[in-house]
Amino acid sequence: MRVVATFAEVRTQVRGDVGLVPTMGFLHEGHLSLAQAARSTNDTVVMSLFVNPLQFSEDDDLDSYPADLARDAELAEAAGVDILFAPAPDEVYPSGPVTSVRVGGLENAMEGASRPGHFAGVALVVVKLFAGTQPDRAYFGRKDAQQLAIVRRMAADLSFPIEVVGCPIVREISGLALSSRNSYLSQDERRAAEVLSRGLMAAADAAEAGERSARSLTDVVWTAVGAEAAIDLEYAVLASADDVEPLDQLDRPAFLALAARVGPARLIDNVHFDGADGRFVADRGIRLEQPSVLYRNVLAADDQRRGA
Ligand code: AMP
Repeated sequence: MRVVATFAEVRTQVRGDVGLVPTMGFLHEGHLSLAQAARSTNDTVVMSLFVNPLQFSEDDDLDSYPADLARDAELAEAAGVDILFAPAPDEVYPSGPVTSVRVGGLENAMEGASRPGHFAGVALVVVKLFAGTQPDRAYFGRKDAQQLAIVRRMAADLSFPIEVVGCPIVREISGLALSSRNSYLSQDERRAAEVLSRGLMAAADAAEAGERSARSLTDVVWTAVGAEAAIDLEYAVLASADDVEPLDQLDRPAFLALAARVGPARLIDNVHFDGADGRFVADRGIRLEQPSVLYRNVLAADDQRRGA
């Protein structure tokens, strides 16, 4: 695996079909599952590591976002990445960009409403990564369901000849969706946060049993999460998977998404529903069978303490 810092180096080192996996680094098994999916269908797998300042607002955690290039390089290589593209901000934004990319009403609800400007930053950096690395396929997680819908629509509207591939959410043993931000949580906060996926799984059960009302499905989430005082649920919304319009009824492919504050972290999660003939099946994601690599250092320190 090569670690490179410029778009030009990426372009000169790829061969054959190229799969791109955009990330902000501090890798976990969710990111690695995207790399593995890319590995199975491409000749060259490029993973980008770039904490994009444009998608963070002043209140966000840009300055404290976890970063460890040596750690990420080891994990990326083991997952089959050929080229790790870790640019400095100047490579991506050589001058303050005056060009903007907006993806219409898809930006309005949920994360767009909670984080003004977030998706303008996401759309611009994804356009730059697509243009600069010229992949055949690009891999995104369903974890960021609104982002996935926005990227799909943006790629179609701008005629990028790139297949956008959506991959299932990877979850910790407890069900908590993996996020680099889970590394901010204490053990107690992590335990409290498990209620988020429990609420979504209960809503998935209700939908598969025939519940169609968005209000009833989101109530399942509010009730489950309400039982945990340490969690501040910001929203629970059922939206169309295609255009991210909030729905009253589950009557088309959709996702039920939430955002919540837990201690120092703001977490998002969702469950995706696919349906035909009025029957809906939930994608509950994939659960790890062992602790995530996010906690490798914590577990190693525990072992050392026990051994000492
Ligand atoms: P991030 O580094 O958080 O910007 O995420 C980079 C990519 O990894 C995005 O496409 C995310 O949707 C995806 N991703 C993040 N967490 C997960 C997860 N738990 N399961 C699957 N994909 C994920």
